[in-house]
Amino acid sequence: MAETQGKVITCRAAVAWGPKEPLVIQEICVDPPQEMEVRVKILYTSICHTDLGTWTGVNEAERAFPRILGHEAVGVVESVGEGVKDVKEGDYVIPTFNGECGECRVCKKEVSNLCERYKVDPMKRLMVNDGGTRFSTTTNKDGGSSQSQRIYHFLNTSTFTEYTVLDSACVVKIDPNAPLKQMSLLSCGVSTGVGAAWNTAKVKEGTTTAVFGLGSVGLAVAEGARARGASRIIGVDANASKFEKGKVMGVTDFINPKDLTKPVHERIRELTRGGVDYSFECTGNVDVLREAFLSTHAGWGSTVLVGIYATPRTLPLHPMELFDGRKVTGSVFGGFKPKSQLPSFAQQCMKGVVKLEPFITNELPFEKINDAFQLLRDGKSLRCLLQIAKFLKK
Ligand code: NAD
Ligand code: ZN
Ligand code: ZN
Repeated sequence: MAETQGKVITCRAAVAWGPKEPLVIQEICVDPPQEMEVRVKILYTSICHTDLGTWTGVNEAERAFPRILGHEAVGVVESVGEGVKDVKEGDYVIPTFNGECGECRVCKKEVSNLCERYKVDPMKRLMVNDGGTRFSTTTNKDGGSSQSQRIYHFLNTSTFTEYTVLDSACVVKIDPNAPLKQMSLLSCGVSTGVGAAWNTAKVKEGTTTAVFGLGSVGLAVAEGARARGASRIIGVDANASKFEKGKVMGVTDFINPKDLTKPVHERIRELTRGGVDYSFECTGNVDVLREAFLSTHAGWGSTVLVGIYATPRTLPLHPMELFDGRKVTGSVFGGFKPKSQLPSFAQQCMKGVVKLEPFITNELPFEKINDAFQLLRDGKSLRCLLQIAKFLKK
């Protein structure tokens, strides 16, 4: 049994104190897990665009500070709360922002991964058990003494910390022999993208695909489509530096909207005799979503929304446009049910069905987390892995 079991752990975390304020690495207290909760020692974490969007505070309703962001990680279970049966101390796990309780009506059906109790909720900031937080400050943001203050949770996970507490529904056990750094990618970006191609669109061999936004999520869509035998994968991005990486993930054609004098969908229709079979929107921009929708073939084209849209604007479609037979659907966490389906997905990745190494473009120590945010903001990284464990206090 861990000597820390049942005790408050004092450790370091990167705390977000306000929109666009640099994260502060500071000492915090992490309470023991309550019933059906798990306390996890985070080994590696990386930054997804969803962390960036929350940190910049674009959606005011979702703001909550101080907060520990982060949702893509891998770690080891330090201790579990009462009633937790499927993981135990010492198990290697990945946190998932979209949980699976296994008991609700949705979890019992095959068609959806949006668990009624633990599905992703950007507004959620407190634990379900008692409406409290498991994190609190020991100092103010300048390191000076102050009264202890609670720190909010984020996206069911909060991984920018040496220790975190999650609902057990949001923890998936992985093979201890798996390459841990790469397993962290399954916590969000790669599962989201590959799953959007496999589970939501169900991309078939010999079909054509357009991917808008070639960050980790969009490139994972491309990698998923490549693995399913798509014959043509058109990558669209305003940052030309993403094109080199795209080739590795099976992207066959590139379009930089800045190079065109016509809308992107017109160019895609020219290239594909009327439009692609599937398009994926992975930028979070509603105008791009419209281009993605119009770039599919009338009659059967299917568009999958993956990006997160912080804007209050609604879907940029006229209802009559749906009479052309094009479909639109959204995809959360790639449609994967985390506990039931990620372990076998991880196995497939380890067998090389999906290549994971190219997604880790940078590695930095935890202390450099603000530099890692900047790399993603500047479009210079796919995933920058931050090593956390080596800072652990014995
Ligand atoms: P990223 O920042 O790494 O990549 C976004 C890419 O889009 C960049 O390469 C950027 O150059 C490109 N882009 C932005 N605006 C563009 C435009 N107008 N035209 C063309 N290209 C443009 O982000 P990411 O981590 O890959 O995440 C992508 C999106 O997916 C984000 O909106 C993120 O919040 C969302 N997301 C959704 C889920 C889900 O479950 N649905 C999960 C994870 C991330
Ligand atoms: Zn994410
Ligand atoms: Zn459920």
